[in-house]
Amino acid sequence: CGIVGYIGKRDSQAILLEGLKKLEYRGYDSAGIAVFTGDGLQLKKSKGRLAVLEDILRGDPLAGSVGIGHTRWATHGKPSDVNSHPHTDNSAQFSVVHNGIVENYLELKDELIEKGHVFVSETDTEVISHLIAEQYTGNIVEAVQRAVKCMRGAFALGVLCSYEPEKLVAVRFASPLVIGVGDGENFIGSDIPAILEHTRNVFILNDGEMAVLTREGVELMTTEGDNISKEITRVEWDL
Ligand code: GLU
Repeated sequence: CGIVGYIGKRDSQAILLEGLKKLEYRGYDSAGIAVFTGDGLQLKKSKGRLAVLEDILRGDPLAGSVGIGHTRWATHGKPSDVNSHPHTDNSAQFSVVHNGIVENYLELKDELIEKGHVFVSETDTEVISHLIAEQYTGNIVEAVQRAVKCMRGAFALGVLCSYEPEKLVAVRFASPLVIGVGDGENFIGSDIPAILEHTRNVFILNDGEMAVLTREGVELMTTEGDNISKEITRVEWDL
């Protein structure tokens, strides 16, 4: 339901939580974040209000300057800790937040189970993280492109891969996503309010477009892999 992501030099946890708070008006049943920490890619997620997640993180913060966060409005699988986003794969090297629905997820899940993947949640989203892991041969952008080709439905995605911790990959397909451009830091959000506190310069993705964010810049392309250029939209309104 709500997506936020950060790559920069500041601590990501507070930025992710603040961003998710700005998306609370959409309604949600669970929340979670994934951050590259000194101990690798770590996830914390919970059913319930953001305050529940904040409590967990207060006791055990995730320190790191790259992360993704999500508030969930369950469509596939009941609201529960394990069904909350971010989701990961069996190697725990990939992490995904997702808005929308993967219509053919059962079919994809069966194929992945046959290849040895073990699923822990009831969600359509977990299939995406396993699918990206399955498609990965050393390039996260290509893995996401190949995964997206197999998927039908509506999705906005934020993806992290611990083999390439200097990148945050974002995809839009029939579910809104914007990219916020900062100075030495960049953002993703399912809605402008999630990132407006940090930047007024945004790229609004269209369907079938994706972005690769590093600290230094943003590369835009189609999910087919063709580079695109886009004007920055300057947001003039306030919250
Ligand atoms: N279909 C996904 C799920 O049920 C994402 C729902 C959402 O957009 O929050 O977990």
